[in-house]
Amino acid sequence: MEKRFYSLPPLPYEYKALAPYISEEQLRIHHSKHHQAYVDNANAILRKLDDAATSGSEVDIKSLCKELSFNLGGHLLHSRFWETLAPPGEVGKEPSGHLADAISRDFGGLEKFKRQFSQAAMSVEGSGWAVLTYCFELDRLMIMQIEKHNVNVIAGFPLVMDLDVWEHAYYIDYRNARAKFVEAFWSVVNWDGVSDWFSEVRS
Ligand code: MN
Repeated sequence: MEKRFYSLPPLPYEYKALAPYISEEQLRIHHSKHHQAYVDNANAILRKLDDAATSGSEVDIKSLCKELSFNLGGHLLHSRFWETLAPPGEVGKEPSGHLADAISRDFGGLEKFKRQFSQAAMSVEGSGWAVLTYCFELDRLMIMQIEKHNVNVIAGFPLVMDLDVWEHAYYIDYRNARAKFVEAFWSVVNWDGVSDWFSEVRS
């Protein structure tokens, strides 16, 4: 059976489509260089493991596990990030359906959720992510703050929406001003897509 590998998902919009909130240059580098690198690195690790499976040679499994967690985490988080975004004006301005209900039940309303999510994004130490996730057991939304691509992850919890606050996500547009990028993010959230995705995740 032929082995399969990860690939860079195409963006569901053009590189210039999120301007002025995220510029064409920023988005192009982020997607085609940074995300691509995580895909390539994850695949390189899988090839090493495949070689070991074929040849029977020893691998440093501890370090490969660590690298796989980092690079595959990067691939999965970025893939959800591109789907979390949409060109301004092309989608609804707020969540709908189950997501709207759950946000109001679990956070006390959209504004309170946005404040808490922004705070999670702002306060990541170093590079990382703010993620809206969901606990199936409790039927409850939660915020997850991930450092790098893989630290503080709650195992088995899905990515409902996420925000990349690595400096590579905003340095061209906002230099070191993470707060300005986090504020701009809310203008390009794909609420229709995220609401549909949440309904799918839940069922
Ligand atoms: Mn990134």
